[in-house]
Amino acid sequence: MDIFSKIAAGEIPSYKCAENEQFYAFLDINPLMEGHTLVIPRREVDYIFDMNDDELAAFQLFAKRVAQAVKTACPCIKVAQVVLGLEVPHAHIHLLPLNSEDDADF
Ligand code: 5GP
Repeated sequence: MDIFSKIAAGEIPSYKCAENEQFYAFLDINPLMEGHTLVIPRREVDYIFDMNDDELAAFQLFAKRVAQAVKTACPCIKVAQVVLGLEVPHAHIHLLPLNSEDDADF
């Protein structure tokens, strides 16, 4: 099981932001900025494009709702959505609360 699957299963502790049956959101352990949140599918899937259309649509909708909650919790001008996956081979979206246009230089 990869590290994010273990986090979603509660086998590795994390600071939970939101969850449902399919998806899980938690704070990044090494945040680029305050409120840096990761959104993942519970099931083990390497890349977001490995999801079928329905799962990907549900994932994006869940991430959007989490982004709205992050925006409320961390006053910011916008919440950027970034898909990387360079370090952890489990599909995830980074949600980054930005306080100025300059914050986009991460
Ligand atoms: P990426 O794979 O998109 O390059 O980055 C993976 C992200 O996962 C990094 O920002 C890293 O800090 C975060 N991360 C890696 N391991 C853990 C962990 O065990 N717990 C949490 N909360 N975040 C992690």
